[in-house]
Amino acid sequence: MRLPSIVALWLVCLLSGFALPAGAQEPVRWLAHDMQRPRPPVVAPAASDCPAPPPADAVVLFDGKDLSGWRDAEGGPAKWIARDGYMESVPNSGYIYSAGKFGDVQLHVEWAAPLPAKGRSQGRGNSGVFLMGLYEVQVLDSYDNETYADGQAAAIYGQYPPLVNACRPPGEWQSYDIFFRRPRFHADGTVERKARITVVHNGILVQDNVEIWGPTAWLQNRPYEPQEPKLPISLQDHGNPVRYRNLWLRELPETPPAGPPASEPPPVVALSTAELQEFVGAYKTLLGDFGKIELHGEQLQLHMETGQVIDLIPRSPTEFAFRWTAAKLDFDVRDGKVAGFTMHLAGDKYPVKRVGG
Ligand code: MG
Repeated sequence: MRLPSIVALWLVCLLSGFALPAGAQEPVRWLAHDMQRPRPPVVAPAASDCPAPPPADAVVLFDGKDLSGWRDAEGGPAKWIARDGYMESVPNSGYIYSAGKFGDVQLHVEWAAPLPAKGRSQGRGNSGVFLMGLYEVQVLDSYDNETYADGQAAAIYGQYPPLVNACRPPGEWQSYDIFFRRPRFHADGTVERKARITVVHNGILVQDNVEIWGPTAWLQNRPYEPQEPKLPISLQDHGNPVRYRNLWLRELPETPPAGPPASEPPPVVALSTAELQEFVGAYKTLLGDFGKIELHGEQLQLHMETGQVIDLIPRSPTEFAFRWTAAKLDFDVRDGKVAGFTMHLAGDKYPVKRVGG
């Protein structure tokens, strides 16, 4: 593209309210709460999927009876109301914090905005679910309620609008299913991995494994700071009586690091082309054709009747491992001739006979 075209593109983007990256690796960022930012399309969710009871290994954060699992900011009793199977935020009573501390979680939340709806924009049915007390998944009555895109229901507040607006009307129960990986820090306190989050709102994907920039905040851009690996989950009092019920989570194990298999494979033996050639031929089971063993260059391959082509790695003069699978062939060699093999796969053994060279 010639230079004048690039300048023109910048101008068009700036004038139309779009942000351009400063460098090739920089994500496109809007200023927080920009009313120019397009609102996500509205998608009506299916009929209610609530309540979703907890699975067997869940930690139940609120069982509908009392607030014994929650604290106020000073560690005292939570001052919200619990009744009729739900809890409700009490204006000016403050945020509440789970008694337990958590890091990586699958978190299920059901909430309902006040009915009748009162107020507008951020003043209608506002609350929030804060992972580790730092990263807010916005709770807001976004049903027919205009506000900035990164502040509507299921936004990562001030950072990521939801992919769609899947809000139910006020008074109806809605669900968030949140999948959260906490940030990781190096020993010197610098960020090793930012937090990541996926959110499903009323059965619809609204945040797709997005990378959180830092703790969410109003009018600020807070950087990551070293933090404990587990912290309480908090719920926001924003002055509106929002209800919650059926809060449970599953603690997620560490993601196993990518790398070589857990067990080292036994050493590979070197077989000559002539030795490898001895295994080439057609093979059958009692049920019919099994496949063929072929030699391509120095690579012995099993071509199964079912279509799979498998590289065979010699582990001994008569034992060949599959290259990518925990399986092997033990060849039966009689009087210097290959008579067949036993395939070992997933704890089972399959006898296979050779029918032609
Ligand atoms: Mg909020």
